[in-house]
Amino acid sequence: MSELEIIRSTHKKQKPEDDQLVFGTQFTDHMFIMDYTPERGWHYPRITPYEPIALEPASTVFHYGQMVFEGLKAYRTKEDKILLFRPEKNFQRLNRSSERLGIPAIDEEKALLYLEELLRIDREWVPSLDGTALYIRPFIIATDPNLTPKPSNTYKFMIILSPVGSYYEEGIHPVGIYVEEQFTRAVKGGTGMAKTAGNYSAAYKAQEKAVNKGQSQVLWLDAVEKKYIEEVGSMNVFFKIDGEVITPELSGSILEGVTRMTTIELLKKWDIPVTERKISIDEIAKAYQEGKLEEAFGTGTAAVISPIGELLWNDQKMVINDRITGPIASKLYEKLTGIQTGVEEDQYNWTIEVI
Ligand SMILES: *Cc1c(COP(=O)(O)O)cnc(C)c1O
Repeated sequence: MSELEIIRSTHKKQKPEDDQLVFGTQFTDHMFIMDYTPERGWHYPRITPYEPIALEPASTVFHYGQMVFEGLKAYRTKEDKILLFRPEKNFQRLNRSSERLGIPAIDEEKALLYLEELLRIDREWVPSLDGTALYIRPFIIATDPNLTPKPSNTYKFMIILSPVGSYYEEGIHPVGIYVEEQFTRAVKGGTGMAKTAGNYSAAYKAQEKAVNKGQSQVLWLDAVEKKYIEEVGSMNVFFKIDGEVITPELSGSILEGVTRMTTIELLKKWDIPVTERKISIDEIAKAYQEGKLEEAFGTGTAAVISPIGELLWNDQKMVINDRITGPIASKLYEKLTGIQTGVEEDQYNWTIEVI
């Protein structure tokens, strides 16, 4: 990669202890950055020390939120190998998000090569304790100094890295979920299928309500009928009802998770019935009353599998599987984290090693 310029940091930061990691608060010694102009396209890829960047206060990203991002992880195996899990899916999705936000596409293959080089340089930052990883945050921001609400002509594509611990301090354990009926996250035709800033800040108010009600995340219903399940927090969601695993179909307002896709593939390989379809909160409540709601869990890169111990819907509290992690959630968690960290054989060629 001759065109990639590398400017190394002259001092190494103190690394946090593996057992002291707090999600997304500390960053490695280096970052990747690349620019876009209409004349030159994407150009000048470089790895530099992690440092503040200068942007005009009028940069369009600050005013109209034209940006997209991704989230994936690098894992250290017992043999000290560094593994990535299906990273090509993340760069493909970054481009799908960009398409929706009017941002020019990046070269997915080159982006992965740049990421690998960045990981080689900051390799020591990949933590090794069980449940830890190096979180990778690629993102693109619009940088034209222009207050006109129109797509920017210039952009920056960056990748930053942050060592992270287990998403939940206690490791895998069931959490409480609040079913939100007032606020909505996304609507078909909107930006719900894109990983873009506004979707998240628009969710904070509902998240605050969930916490005030003693729950840890929000379960989002569809914006039109306030009836069909969409996602939980920033995770896709699965329910096991009477032996069948059901997840909401990709409706245009749901983010297509890599963990969701992998979960569906694994369930199929295990011959566990899995269906992608519309599922309403009434159907969940009915299954619960009939004693058929066997398991519920969220899926996402951050927590991998997050079992749901209870659902609070208006005044109705549904306790799932006695607030114990169910067998399917456990099996998926073990398999996924096993493959990601090199403990389990990767029969599916999902991981790539950073050499
Ligand atoms: C990132 C994200 C997910 C999970 O996607 P993964 O690729 O599995 O990490 C689900 N929902 C939302 C809203 C997200 O932003």
